[in-house]
Amino acid sequence: MLFTAPFVKLSLINLSLSHFLNTQEARQRGDSSSSSLIFKTSMAGTGIFTDILDGDVYKYYSDGEWKTSSSGKSVAIINPATRKTQYKVQACTQEEVNKVMEMAKSAQKSWAKTPLWKRAELLHKAAAILKDNKAPIAESLVKEIAKPAKDSVTEVVRSGDLISYCAEEGVRILGEGKFLLSDSFPGNERTKYCLTSKIPLGVVLAIPPFNYPVNLAVSKIAPALIAGNSLVLKPPTQGAVSCLHMVHCFHLAGFPKGLISCITGKGSEIGDFLTMHPAVNCISFTGGDTGISISKKAGMIPLQMELGGKDACIVLEDADLDLVASNIIKGGFSYSGQRCTAVKVVLVIKSVADELVEKVKAKVAKLTVGPPEENCDITAVVSESSANFIEGLVMDAKDKGATFCQEYKREGNLIWPLLLDNVRPDMRIAWEEPFGPVLPVLRINSVEEGINHCNASNFGLQGCVFTKDINKAILISDAMETGTVQINSAPARGPDHFPFQGLKDSGIGSQGVTNSINLMTKLKTTVINLPTPSYSMG
Ligand code: NAP
Repeated sequence: MLFTAPFVKLSLINLSLSHFLNTQEARQRGDSSSSSLIFKTSMAGTGIFTDILDGDVYKYYSDGEWKTSSSGKSVAIINPATRKTQYKVQACTQEEVNKVMEMAKSAQKSWAKTPLWKRAELLHKAAAILKDNKAPIAESLVKEIAKPAKDSVTEVVRSGDLISYCAEEGVRILGEGKFLLSDSFPGNERTKYCLTSKIPLGVVLAIPPFNYPVNLAVSKIAPALIAGNSLVLKPPTQGAVSCLHMVHCFHLAGFPKGLISCITGKGSEIGDFLTMHPAVNCISFTGGDTGISISKKAGMIPLQMELGGKDACIVLEDADLDLVASNIIKGGFSYSGQRCTAVKVVLVIKSVADELVEKVKAKVAKLTVGPPEENCDITAVVSESSANFIEGLVMDAKDKGATFCQEYKREGNLIWPLLLDNVRPDMRIAWEEPFGPVLPVLRINSVEEGINHCNASNFGLQGCVFTKDINKAILISDAMETGTVQINSAPARGPDHFPFQGLKDSGIGSQGVTNSINLMTKLKTTVINLPTPSYSMG
């Protein structure tokens, strides 16, 4: 007898995810009979997560409690693969936002007085709870953003690791300050001792995007909390349920009431009210062009903006084309191209273009297309409007004469992987971010042409260059106007402690654990003034 009553109701799809997770876990433990682990895996909204659900609508989190909004309204989360309502979340009101901000302001005051090691201890606890409950969180990711099951589990585990790393890094860097002496500046005697330390900003508003809702939420939450800030999270609508489960892990870890809140509702409806709220002292946002308008409206507060990208992959004639082809597949088509750092345009020197395109075509043919539960490489894109946008870019390229390496195929939100060769700069896809499994190839005559194309973009997130000549690679990296350049590998945001930043319309500030902690603090100095100069040992 494998299943007890609550599990009998589960769909086969849920079971296959559960089985996948249990088998993974069993493998890691070297246990060949994985069935015994099935009972450990609760599903979304069940087990320790029952408190976060009211009927069929997920609650929002305020003042350390799970609550139903007084609006009486909910927002539907559409499963991208089935195009049916999968979950519902509360449509929070402005009054509820005001209340959360009030609590966040007062909870922050005592949190800032909590010893650093205690803050770190709670973060480690939350990380452990999160990792222990990866199954229901991964299940929500599969259902609300159609992320392949295996990648969904990876996202949750990586998020737990990020929280722990952040706790450790915070203890180190926030435990240090500077000591300055006045006599190093001309005209001064040693009469002033200056002590510097890092202090929290206050209330941090975190807004992550749909594609990594859990990871990009904790990449804001953990640095904010370790630095002594309080945190208000507005999750993306697609991804909200995964985020609510993740927030419950923080709740179970025992963080003080009001320190963390999670407000749900459509960004288009409550976004402006949140981002322009006078109680907010810092906004950490990841997403698309919305970030540009938030930057224009936000007050005089620090902003961390991680926005879109059009990451170029420049391929020189001496590149290892097999390596390039695998990186184009990984970089361009992982999670169906819905990654900020996806390879979004290939700029290949003409003499090797035919060979490269053939190699990539062969690999595209092997990509599996279908449900995220079955770990297909290509799954439905997040929404119908996103699929329509991608199709618009494809049709524009078709009308203007791009070469289709595969037949264009779409069923609902599912778009088959497509490589477009002989793309020219007058086509929209040469510049716009499809955020889907469609990749343009531009054949270039020279490296300079590739660099010019890359630098003419309004984006400047990442880029990559493939060559065996490290000297050329460095020169090209220096010439590319992007926050990061990868040499001989596809662009990537991780590991999560590396600095990560975009130039131009790709963002403001830098992420990565250390940079995020620094961005969410301010320097405070205390100067000790001595009546007479004092030189040590003098
Ligand atoms: P998006 O449409 O800009 O949404 C991002 C977040 O903003 C969501 O939580 C959304 O909530 C919220 N939002 C919408 N309108 C708002 C408003 N007026 N005020 C405040 N918040 C508002 O982006 P997305 O479609 O989720 O994500 C895809 C984009 O993110 C791509 O452009 C991608 O390149 C970028 N991205 C960048 C990075 C990076 O680190 N550079 C990483 C990942 C993704 P709702 O869901 O409720 O609308």
